[in-house]
Amino acid sequence: MNVLDIINTAIAEHRTRFAFELLPPLKGDGMGGVFAAIDRLIGFDPAYINVTFHREGIKQSVRPDGGIDWHVVRRRPGTVGISAAIQKKYGVEVVPHLICGGQSKYDIEDALIDLDFLGLHNVLALRGDKSQNEKFFMPHPQGHSHAVDLVRQIAAMNRGEFVDGEVEECHHSKFSIGVAGYPEGHEESPSPEADIAALKAKIDAGAGYIVTQLFYDNARFFDFVRRCREAGIAVPIIPGIKPLSTLRHLTLLPQTFGCRIPEELEREVLRHREDPKAIREVGTEWAVAQSRELKQAGVPVLHYYPMGKADNIIKIAKAIF
Ligand code: FAD
Repeated sequence: MNVLDIINTAIAEHRTRFAFELLPPLKGDGMGGVFAAIDRLIGFDPAYINVTFHREGIKQSVRPDGGIDWHVVRRRPGTVGISAAIQKKYGVEVVPHLICGGQSKYDIEDALIDLDFLGLHNVLALRGDKSQNEKFFMPHPQGHSHAVDLVRQIAAMNRGEFVDGEVEECHHSKFSIGVAGYPEGHEESPSPEADIAALKAKIDAGAGYIVTQLFYDNARFFDFVRRCREAGIAVPIIPGIKPLSTLRHLTLLPQTFGCRIPEELEREVLRHREDPKAIREVGTEWAVAQSRELKQAGVPVLHYYPMGKADNIIKIAKAIF
């Protein structure tokens, strides 16, 4: 069953399923850490597990003569391989992320062919962020500028159309495609209306469901769903939840993800500013309350972003599922 079928089954059964996302290990690390995290969460019967995709970064080193060298580095390669390993070990549907950033259409096509051969039939199609040395997102010279073009490429491949032309009588891939949505708007979008129009274009191009950026105010999510429906977007919308866990998150999360931290949550965190454990508790409790309300509202899946640490997600899952 692909992820869209799983989501639709949850909708038909009026259920809310648990799902989470993982990062591939740092280059040089084995898979032990990832498997250990999954071992702690698998008992909550995840609908699927997502694996993020990381583009290259830039590292600087100082030469003996004082000059500076810049190196291109990929810190977390291996999305395709680790996705296959997880699906094989746990028998859970895995959703590798694919991004446009730093990749040509041919690189993407190779990755899709590998995924298909490995029995992975779900993809979250994303543009990716600008690289560290860019002011704006710059597409690869033979790549895509927006996620909608990646969705089009995957949908075309499902029809037997490859980058260099159609292959008659070919084996057809059957990728189920998800895309990202932004309840509080994407930082580069000129207006909320333009952002929703760009999201609708991704659905019209062949995406079957939306996973949202993290948010801390459910009202923003409900308003986003309303605006999507008014714009004619009828596909399932899965809320993304990340429990706040440190004092630094108060500034870092809005800066990185463009989300607003509600005053009540900020006040509670600041009240415990000297106590990191208590801050983690406050963030976990907030995510439990958010999850409870979203579940009552009938969302088919709650998609958690553990970002490497599973303990708070376990507490939330115990309270909700
Ligand atoms: P797009 O849909 O291309 O949108 C980017 C911007 O361009 C938006 O402002 C949009 O309104 C605008 N736009 C879209 N189409 C057009 C058009 N045709 N003309 C003009 N403007 C347009 N990043 C990673 O690097 N790896 C990951 O694994 C990853 N996982 C993510 C998972 C989720 C659930 C989410 C929400 C985000 C994830 N990201 C990831 C971050 C994502 O790559 C960034 O938010 C990125 O800046 C935008 O990606 P997108 O797919 O939404 O892009």
